Formats: sequence, structure tokens, C-alpha cells
Amino acid sequence: MAFSTPDDKENCARPALQGSGDGAAMLGETPIRAKRLQQDRPERTFTALGAKAKAAALEPGLHIVATPIGNLGDITLRALATLAGADVILAEDTRMSRRLLDHYEIQSPMMAYHEHNAAQTRPMLLRRLSEGQALALISDAGTPLISDPGYRLVAEAAALGITIRSLPGPSAALAALTVGGLPTDRFFFEGFLPAKSAARRARLNAIARIPATLVIYEAPSRLADSLSDLAAELGPRPAVVARELTKLHEETRRGDLLSLAAHYGSSEAPKGEIVLLVGPPAEQAAPAVEELDDEIRAALATLSVRDAANAIAARTGLPRREVYARALQLGRAVP
Ligand code: SAM
Repeated sequence: MAFSTPDDKENCARPALQGSGDGAAMLGETPIRAKRLQQDRPERTFTALGAKAKAAALEPGLHIVATPIGNLGDITLRALATLAGADVILAEDTRMSRRLLDHYEIQSPMMAYHEHNAAQTRPMLLRRLSEGQALALISDAGTPLISDPGYRLVAEAAALGITIRSLPGPSAALAALTVGGLPTDRFFFEGFLPAKSAARRARLNAIARIPATLVIYEAPSRLADSLSDLAAELGPRPAVVARELTKLHEETRRGDLLSLAAHYGSSEAPKGEIVLLVGPPAEQAAPAVEELDDEIRAALATLSVRDAANAIAARTGLPRREVYARALQLGRAVP
């Protein structure tokens, strides 16, 4: 694998569409540097909609490039030029990203950067960046760093004063929010919930009162169990299961958590990739002291002090510690 080491950083322009002498579109060409890099690696082009475009040498630094979450058409011209112009593309799974690069006839060398080799690979990548190389980071799909590797690389590159550029594009979280029909003025990105039910319920209890739409990534095999825990912890809040966004079998199923839990609990696990959205909690007036005591007593008839406090705190939005303290008092008073 050949790497070039640009030594004249000032000469490196960011990609910007320009005309070129040879009929192909030139992206941010800077003659001296581009000439040198093109000698190193002649194929700095990409092909889109049947037209071949030349990509200029990139500004040295780390370029964070969003890629499609299913539909290969969902990529920007700037992303393509950046991938074609990069000295090396860091990909989570190089075989998976090959399909995208082949589709756009991008020849840049790829290198694996994933959670299992990140710690070991990072010093070498930071060295290359410090030497003035242009590296592009992509993930299997969507926006790198969003439930995907890259955060530490960005943090450490930033600490070294390396230029970091964002090439924004698809992300499953935002795609789901745009079709879900739930409030989008405030949303809370939870990412993946814990895989085990006890840990998942504890986490849901902790985020139950956040006044925002919750955005959760979920595996199809866990969807039914997660919906059941969501319904138990959050009650019948409106929710959306957005599946296979931008793909052939795209589906958006809306309901409340109870009905969605019942639906997926009684059918086979769906196929594909899933984002779950949960609407914000309803605003409620705090219950009167007597009402709260009645509710705690009723809950203590069937639940432990801890479970009763958790359930009532989640429902009312009162601090769990306060409800727990009151439940302890009332629990002791019960003969
Ligand atoms: N970085 C990606 C992004 O920006 O969306 C997310 C990566 S995360 C490892 C993968 C998860 O994203 C999947 O398990 C699923 O929850 C969600 N996802 C990715 N593509 C999706 C799609 N086309 N439809 C629905 N959910 C998707």
C-alpha cells in the first residue's frame, strides 16, 4: 500500500467544484500538490451517474465522512470527492465498504479501523496525520462516531492540533426522526440499550423523565423484549419502530409502547435494522400528598419498596429517592 506525504500544507485546497481543462469536473484542484499526488497515484477519480469526475488532493487532516444507511444514492458529491482524494480511507469493515467504493469507482486504499484494533492502530494514524496526510474515516453505514468508532481518534487528533473536517450526511437516528411523526424540537439519543433486561430496565428508569423524544438503536432479535421493558418502565407512551430506512423493505410502524410490545411479542422477530422512537412523557401536575400515599400503599401490596418507588417515580416524575423514602416509611407502618 503506497502512502504519499504532502509537505506543502498551504497549497492544499478543500474540495470545491471547479471547471477543468480536460473536460472532467475538478474538485478543489491545487496544481503543484495535485500534480505530485497524481503522479503517486494516478486514479483520483470517482464516477457518479455515469460521469467520471476528478478529485483534487485533500486538505491534510482527518475527514469524517457520512455514508449511506442503505440506499447507495444517499451520499454527497463532497463525500465522494473526499473519499477519492484521501491518502487512505479508514473503514470499520473494509469488505463492507468495498461495495460503496466499487459502486463509485473509488480507488483509494483502505485500512481497517474498528473497536478491536483502534487502540493499537491510533498512534500510527496520528503519526500519519501529523506528517500531513489526509485520512477519511467512514463507518459501515451512516455517520461515524454515532454508535460507531472514531471518538477517541477525533479527540486525540484535536489535541494534536490536527484539522478535522465533517462531511455530514445520513444517520439512522435523524432519518427515523424525520419520518416518525413524534416531536423533534428536543430529542435524546440513547443509542443501544443494555442487552440484559435488568440493566435495560434500570437504564430506562434513569431516562424515563427526560422531556424529549428518545432515539434508540435496536437489534431485531431484541426488539420484542426491549419494547416489553419500555412499556413496563414508561407506560403507554407513543412510539415508532422505523425499520430498514432508505431500503427496499422500509417500514414505519406507529403506536404506543403497549400495542407495539404486544404486536412484536406475538410475531416473528422482524428482519433488518431498527430505530425505536419514544415520545416524551406527558407533563403532569405532581400528585397531592394523600394521593401519592394511596398510590404507594397500593403498590406496596404487590411490589417491594424499591420496585414500588421505581414505578411511581417513573410515572409521576417525582425524584426516585423521595418516593423511596416515603415508601419506606409507609412500608414500616403497614402491620
Ligand atoms: N453510525 C450509524 C448512524 O449514523 O446511524 C449507526 C451505526 S449503529 C452501529 C447501527 C444501528 O443503526 C443499527 O443497529 C440500527 O439500529 C441503526 N440503523 C442503521 N441503518 C439503519 C436503517 N437503514 N434503518 C433503520 N435503522 C438503521
